[in-house]
Amino acid sequence: MSAPVRTLLLITASSPEIQRVRRSRVLNFQQITMPYLAAFVPPHWTVLHVDEVVRPVDFGMQPDLAAITFHTPSAPHAYAIADRFRQRGIPVVLGGPHVTLLPDEAQEHADVIFVGEAEFQWPQFLQEFEAGRHGQRYCSPELPTLEHVPMARKDLFHRRDHTAGVLFATRGCPHRCDFCTLAVMYQSRVRQRSVQAVAEEYGSFPGKVIILWDDNIASDMEYAKTLFQALVPHRKWWSSQASIHAAADDEFLELAARSGCKQLFIGLESISQTSLNEAHKPFNHVSDYGCAIARIHSHGIAVQAGIVFGFDHDTQAIFSETVDFLEASGVQNATFNILTPFPGTRLYQRLEGEDRILTRDWSRYNGRADVVFRPKQMSAEDLLAGYRYANRRFYSWTSIYRRLSRSPVGLPWTLPLNSAYRFTSFIDRLRTWQRSA
Ligand code: SF4
Repeated sequence: MSAPVRTLLLITASSPEIQRVRRSRVLNFQQITMPYLAAFVPPHWTVLHVDEVVRPVDFGMQPDLAAITFHTPSAPHAYAIADRFRQRGIPVVLGGPHVTLLPDEAQEHADVIFVGEAEFQWPQFLQEFEAGRHGQRYCSPELPTLEHVPMARKDLFHRRDHTAGVLFATRGCPHRCDFCTLAVMYQSRVRQRSVQAVAEEYGSFPGKVIILWDDNIASDMEYAKTLFQALVPHRKWWSSQASIHAAADDEFLELAARSGCKQLFIGLESISQTSLNEAHKPFNHVSDYGCAIARIHSHGIAVQAGIVFGFDHDTQAIFSETVDFLEASGVQNATFNILTPFPGTRLYQRLEGEDRILTRDWSRYNGRADVVFRPKQMSAEDLLAGYRYANRRFYSWTSIYRRLSRSPVGLPWTLPLNSAYRFTSFIDRLRTWQRSA
């Protein structure tokens, strides 16, 4: 006898604030956690996926089971969704980064939680759920191998446009920067999918532009080089994140460029070496930044710099000095963030020990609109103002012209991103102004 048909509702939860950020069209990449998770669901389940950036949750639905994934700033919002479904008798599973970091908190809003990576225990859980004897908490006993991860379910992707090609090749990063949640979740270990499986999935997207949603594509240089060789025949464009080590290896850059790499997001974090040392990221050498960026540019690859403000050694001068440096080095894009001590990180533990955490309202742990700890060398208001100044100045038309007019990557790639970030920066300022009015 075949198993009865069941309905599983997957929700990628985003608070209204995070939705506003993600709705900026060019930056709105497909969130892939749920489409990959769905690939592990047996075929007698009907799977639906709601990404809140695209459409709201319909609370009139009556699935057999709802599963919600979310990051820390969306936690209160996700809990409210979970509570509403549970009030109607629909069992709720919670998983994702925040649940892994704070499982006891999440358990209060769920019938079942997944701590760590869910995919590999997911089929077992569904079997137990159907038999009416499931547990309340599933913890991955060890970091699972990614050798046999299937392709994500594209029928659950919401976007079909040029940014719809999203996949991952590796998970994790070998480093231990003390503000980074990945270092906690993945215990500084890196795992890879098979090159063949990644290349096949990469080639299966009809679009030209692909996002490799890896934590650090340069975490295993030899794997990356083999992967890039396998991507060459597909003649697509791609972008990913990499640590600064990527810039030290010309063969890596040459193969990346040949396989269609148009941009690398590099976590520079700070132009202050003392701040980098403080954050346990001493392998970033500020004195080498200019050469590293020039080397990446020489291969026709744009650089998106990840910058964080608010380290203990940051003074008020850090904001203008950072933008001066970014303009002088000609980086094409930058993502500015306010230092945010996510729960579970070493940074959080240190600041909590120093009684410097200002709020535990997770919705304010967004890194862009709120300062949630007491900075050392400036007020929280000054940190927020400096962050806004850097965004405003870097994404002014003057700065965009100055940087892009000498970019090694053409305007079709760089201008839309700059325009999107300029728009996001404007919305941020507008919201802050509205909140203070
Ligand atoms: S290098 Fe990047 S991804 Fe790796 S631990 Fe540091 S911040 Fe996290």
